[in-house]
Amino acid sequence: MQKNELISISNEMCKELSLLINQEEEGNKEKVANFLLESAQIIMNLKEEKINEEGFTQSLFSNAYKDIATQSLSSYADTNEKIQKLTRLHEKTLSECHEQHIDLPSLTSKFDEIQTHMSDEVKKANEIITELISKVKTLEEKSNLDSLTKIYNRRALSTYLNKVCSNKKLSYEFHLLMLDIDDFKTVNDRYGHVTGDKVLIFIANILRQTLREGDKVFRYGGEEFIIILNRIDNEHCRLIIDRLLYLIRKNKLIYKKDSLGITTSIGVANYKNGDTPDSLIARADKALYKAKSNGKNQMFGI
Ligand code: GH3
Ligand code: MG
Ligand code: MG
Repeated sequence: MQKNELISISNEMCKELSLLINQEEEGNKEKVANFLLESAQIIMNLKEEKINEEGFTQSLFSNAYKDIATQSLSSYADTNEKIQKLTRLHEKTLSECHEQHIDLPSLTSKFDEIQTHMSDEVKKANEIITELISKVKTLEEKSNLDSLTKIYNRRALSTYLNKVCSNKKLSYEFHLLMLDIDDFKTVNDRYGHVTGDKVLIFIANILRQTLREGDKVFRYGGEEFIIILNRIDNEHCRLIIDRLLYLIRKNKLIYKKDSLGITTSIGVANYKNGDTPDSLIARADKALYKAKSNGKNQMFGI
């Protein structure tokens, strides 16, 4: 094969390639590469005698290119169509997202509305609770029972004593006992206030269970109780007091394996005609003071 023949084949090839590239809207590097590879293959397989046949080279290259170009372009078109579909889908999704974003302020305001409504409700509930707590407190104050020990309170004692002492011709004898827990501050300090409260309940229960019907027990103050023993003489009164002191001393409260030994002291006043609630209580208080100073865990007064 002559040099000029090779130049002619190459020129022919280039011409055909340029023509077909120009026919397409977009160029395609792969198609060109494929075309050249195919062309190289064709040149390798060329038979010397056929090269000079008229139109042979041109048709050879153009047909080869056309096949490749058609295949590549259709695949490109296919890919392109898929990409366009994806782009449309993407745009649609974006526009929907955008629409949702437009709604976001209204959603936010809805949430704010719900939140405000809920905090209003909580506020109202808190107001109701506060009101109820204050009502319970008022009821407790008006009630005659001590909220911790569930025995009569000081208010009930006052009503009771006023009534009894205002009866100028009381036909029966009664004793007023003032009972005070010994070293109660130490109990609180050592075991805590909650345990101290349990001791108060424990004492109140012993008093309630031990006393006869017709006797009265009141919580007078912190760790002080007042007991009214009706219709008994001094001797019987002493027996009952001894029993109370004994039961309180004997019954032990258990706190974390520790046994709490509680003792009490009692001051006694025997009602006399003309006594007022204050004079009666003052006498019992004085006697209690004496019981304490005599060594606690005992009674004084009769
Ligand atoms: P004394 O033997 O002289 O009576 O000594 P005391 O420690 O019992 O008496 P004091 O008056 O020194 O202490 C009484 C303690 O009672 C102090 C107070 O904190 C406590 N107290 C009063 N009321 C309550 C109550 O309701 N619960 C509890 N846990 N402790 C109370
Ligand atoms: Mg006291
Ligand atoms: Mg005390």
